[in-house]
Amino acid sequence: MAAGVRLVVLGKQGAGKGTQCVRLSHRYAVPHISTGDMLRAAVRNKTPLGEQAKVLMDGGSLLPDELVMSIVAERLAERDARTRGFLLDGFPRTVGQAEMLEEELGEHGLDCVINLEVPTELVMNRLVTRRVCEDCGAIYSLSQPPTQPWTCDVCGGSVIQRPDDTADAIMVRLSAYEKETRPLIDFYAERGLLETIDGSQDPDTVFSATVSVITRRKEGSA
Ligand code: AMP
Repeated sequence: MAAGVRLVVLGKQGAGKGTQCVRLSHRYAVPHISTGDMLRAAVRNKTPLGEQAKVLMDGGSLLPDELVMSIVAERLAERDARTRGFLLDGFPRTVGQAEMLEEELGEHGLDCVINLEVPTELVMNRLVTRRVCEDCGAIYSLSQPPTQPWTCDVCGGSVIQRPDDTADAIMVRLSAYEKETRPLIDFYAERGLLETIDGSQDPDTVFSATVSVITRRKEGSA
């Protein structure tokens, strides 16, 4: 079996983090830990966390750092993440979260941080045309719909527009990215962990570039 990996994937909403993480999690046999997916599941299941998160999420605002860190810490403590590693998608999102993660993982906690760089005009277009499966999170778009109208090819679930993929919520989310998340690029560059990849290329090219970077990093640290 391929060696595992411990990775953070950064990028604006619509940069392709979800798509790449699904492929990377198969390649390295590590769990894809997406805070957005975990929170949407909590909303769907109407758990107390979901009830608390829904309004903020629908409007595109971030949830409190401590709350999100506690969900991630719980998931990282599971056996698969402890033994093989993990892909963190959508977390950390603020410097406060990155500091808490560093404390949780210790000094050599990450192999590297992949930053998928995509111009804002391109992500706007990707987000307004994006459609997702409510059940498994598979990603489609108006130009690449599922085979049967709005029924997921992977699991048969309903393919919908996310409530926060509206023009207003997208603006709030992108401005939260600029204000809260962009500073993480310097945070991880200062620690020598950052690898930036052009996320506007086609998904296969982005995937190969990401795998090459991870291989180089892991060989360097072997
Ligand atoms: P995403 O699917 O990653 O775009 O996340 C959807 C929504 O979940 C975000 O707009 C936030 O409301 C919430 N969320 C996800 N991850 C985080 C995080 N790391 N910190 C705060 N809020 C988050």
